[in-house]
Amino acid sequence: MHPRLVEVRQKVLKRNDLLARELRERFRAAGVFVVTLVSSPGSGKTAFLEKTLSLLQPQMRVAALVGDLATDNDAVRLARSMVPVRQITTGTVCHLDAEMIDKALSGWNLSEFDLLFVENVGNLVCPSSYDLGEDLRAVLMSVTEGEDKPLKYPTIFNTADLAVITKMDLAVAVEFDSEAAKRNIGAVRPGMEVLAVSSKTGEGLDLWVNRLIQAALQKHGSANVRPLIEAQN
Ligand code: MG
Ligand code: ZN
Repeated sequence: MHPRLVEVRQKVLKRNDLLARELRERFRAAGVFVVTLVSSPGSGKTAFLEKTLSLLQPQMRVAALVGDLATDNDAVRLARSMVPVRQITTGTVCHLDAEMIDKALSGWNLSEFDLLFVENVGNLVCPSSYDLGEDLRAVLMSVTEGEDKPLKYPTIFNTADLAVITKMDLAVAVEFDSEAAKRNIGAVRPGMEVLAVSSKTGEGLDLWVNRLIQAALQKHGSANVRPLIEAQN
């Protein structure tokens, strides 16, 4: 790359890192646990998020931001779960950055939420460079994408905290080799936590949701801990 371009790119990333740091501080002060989801297009992020929101909602106060190049289809779909949802339409930009998150949050009182989800634009390349101030970044790969995704896109796996293998209900049909996939993830990021889920059958979602609840409660600190199951009226 031309040195001048490298310089501009570094400036952009530096600016993003500073803003992400501010966001992280705001999230900490509000006691909201922030989870971002990254994956290639079509790996089932929105279905996974929809299930996650509906499973968490009886127990936790949840909200979501969804990024897409165009259309607000995902936000409309997620709004059915009766959770506050906002769409970020990026136009030609193939990733979310901290500034987009900051803008999308305007007017929301973050302390009213226990968990905030951010669905990134479907892309396994540049989202890895942009810190969004999140507490946990999950990288999704579906069984239909093949076991070697981590080897092809090591950087995104390296910047994520947890890997989620989605569409497990299709694993047998596409002859997905779970052990090979886990080996590949481990080769890129030794010791990385891996969950295998199906948004269709619900497989693995209990583990995922419980992990998030624990993490959110931990972030809240004992002063703010709310009962896991609230009385339903
Ligand atoms: Mg989506
Ligand atoms: Zn991009």
